[in-house]
Amino acid sequence: MERIVAGNMGISPGIGAGVGEAAGAEPFADALERRGLSLVRGEITTLQVNTGYLCDLRCRHCHLEAGPGRTEIMSRETMAAVVSFARRFPFQVIDITGGAPELVPDLPFLLEGLAPLAPRLMLRTNLSALNGAARESLLALCVAHRVVLIASFPSTNPSQADAQRGAGVTETSIAVLKKLNDAGYGVEGTGLELDLVSNPVGAFLPVSQASAERKFRHDLLRKWGVAFNHLYTFANVPLGRFRTWLLRTGNYERYVKTLVETFNPSAIDRLMCRTLLSVSWDGYLYDCDFNLSVGRPNGERKVHVLDVRDLPPPGDPIAVGEYCYACTAGSGFT
Ligand code: SF4
Repeated sequence: MERIVAGNMGISPGIGAGVGEAAGAEPFADALERRGLSLVRGEITTLQVNTGYLCDLRCRHCHLEAGPGRTEIMSRETMAAVVSFARRFPFQVIDITGGAPELVPDLPFLLEGLAPLAPRLMLRTNLSALNGAARESLLALCVAHRVVLIASFPSTNPSQADAQRGAGVTETSIAVLKKLNDAGYGVEGTGLELDLVSNPVGAFLPVSQASAERKFRHDLLRKWGVAFNHLYTFANVPLGRFRTWLLRTGNYERYVKTLVETFNPSAIDRLMCRTLLSVSWDGYLYDCDFNLSVGRPNGERKVHVLDVRDLPPPGDPIAVGEYCYACTAGSGFT
């Protein structure tokens, strides 16, 4: 079968369900080797903690296929193991993600345990799960520990955003953003950082981060009087629910083609997997959230945080697959 390399195409639809493998695409590892590149670890500075796949939304771009019915939720016992791991191996940044971490019953326990251990503690939120009186105490805890909030907000066009995340989600998200601004988040001088994350609402790459940030800042202020600190743009990774949507709508070939064609060698050095370790909801180590979603553990063998003797050293190989093309497309997105 003719291989897809930057510059020549031809992918067969209905690509094998292999984990992120795009039949016909030049394997990512080969694309690196052909250019004399390698993707290996640098010094690990970030711990990403995935608290599970429970979520109140079913976003179209979700590589984890998180949703209301998911039962993979980090237990208090595993959280205690993660806290002891972070105490043994200090990290500069700890990034709590999911699913919707806000819905995980023992999240306050995890926040309290990790807050003293990292100069920068981040909590991802889809905003919708932060809505309501039941979350007031969580918000107070975030303020008390100066937790950085990273909020998903795909577009300032409500119908586009709702197409990706569900009807009415943008309206709820705006209400929560206003509540966060009232609490000091995203407001100059408060030290309470509120950043937004935007994924494209379809099978195309994001616009440049700088121009997207200018547009979001202008629109959010003009339309809703909402402020934030930074905006980050990410390409959708052709895994999970996004892959299913691409295949169902006949966009898979074209989207993978775009990712492969816009491969950017200079993005390699800045990839998050070089400085990050990801811990799954049940306590095992992965090179990133995408490798976690396809079940490829760090070093290709499952090691629980309780059993780690040393962190993977600089120079160690990172598990790669064709989904990595989403991270190296255009200006690079992790
Ligand atoms: S998916 Fe992205 S972050 Fe994960 S290993 Fe590949 S390049 Fe690195």
